[in-house]
Amino acid sequence: MNEPGLAIGLIRRAPKVLLHDHLDGGLRPQTIIELAADQGYRGLPSTDPEELGEWFRRGASQGSLELYLETFEHTVAVMQTRAALVRVAAECAEDLAADGVVYAEVRHAPELSTRGGLTLDEVVEAILEGFRIGAGQVAGRPIVLRFLATAMRQADRAREIADLALRHRDAGVVGFDIAGPEAGYPPGRFADVFGRLVHASFHLTLHAGEGYGLPSIREALDLGAERLGHGVRIVDDIKVDGAGQAVLGRLAAYVRDRRIPLELCPTSNVHSGAAGSIESHPFELLRRLRFRVTVNTDNRLMSDVSLSSEFAALEAAFGLGLDEVEWLTLNAMKSAFLPFDERLAMITGTIKPGFAALRAELNADR
Ligand SMILES: [Zn+2]
Repeated sequence: MNEPGLAIGLIRRAPKVLLHDHLDGGLRPQTIIELAADQGYRGLPSTDPEELGEWFRRGASQGSLELYLETFEHTVAVMQTRAALVRVAAECAEDLAADGVVYAEVRHAPELSTRGGLTLDEVVEAILEGFRIGAGQVAGRPIVLRFLATAMRQADRAREIADLALRHRDAGVVGFDIAGPEAGYPPGRFADVFGRLVHASFHLTLHAGEGYGLPSIREALDLGAERLGHGVRIVDDIKVDGAGQAVLGRLAAYVRDRRIPLELCPTSNVHSGAAGSIESHPFELLRRLRFRVTVNTDNRLMSDVSLSSEFAALEAAFGLGLDEVEWLTLNAMKSAFLPFDERLAMITGTIKPGFAALRAELNADR
């Protein structure tokens, strides 16, 4: 049974799992200002933290993926030294832990942080170091963080990034992704890179089915993607008749049958124009049809969200209860690139007991 009006305070205390979050999309405005001063970067539109935060949110809500991506010029500009990367990664760990996230896979394109002379390896090492420091600072809020190495679609460094990911696979890099504008940069360009990673028994998630539709999803799966970054356009292959009965096309059925995880990021989809509003977001249809739906933040700064606020927005739109939040969390944990035994330990040792305690609290209040 659904509990009406699941309070955000309760959602924040629920042990949550985040699979799709960009490191360069989650900086604190104050940190951006301080890092810009340290690194002599003068391009910021404001040096007032309130105004700067507002500027990022405005830039994100213009309904175009290309415009949305422009806001990253400023965050990336201040992520060019080892100290800056350690700090950004540590604060990411702290912010997620404070929001009740117990496991997160955070991604970044290392090639974006080499302008100050860092090597790709140094970028990854700094980020992993930041995760360790941040996770160590949040007593009473244990969090496990892993890194996904992203290659940019419009660049030509995917092979290097794949090799980089493999070099650091035992140190906390658990997967590979490609991001950037979908239009004009089909993932097929990187077929040999994906083949190499699959051959190395490494994990792949690809941004697909966000700005672009079904062919991009099919191609990502052909190339070995285990999860779909967004994947929201899979709804283009689902017809709902007048009686509310859903009919799945071949691809949608395949994605559901194979339990292929969809890394849905509802607010980000609204901002990038992939969905009209939270209320009309395909999340609810996909959840009702029991696709392997997961809820994610994408870019916490630009979209002004946390994982808890994202769940609260879905709760407000669709009346999710604690059971649904737990189901979505278990979906995410099952879909993580952590080894099976560690996933199981998170589920039985952290997630299920955490939700059971909250449920007992809710029942006691009635
Ligand atoms: Zn993304």
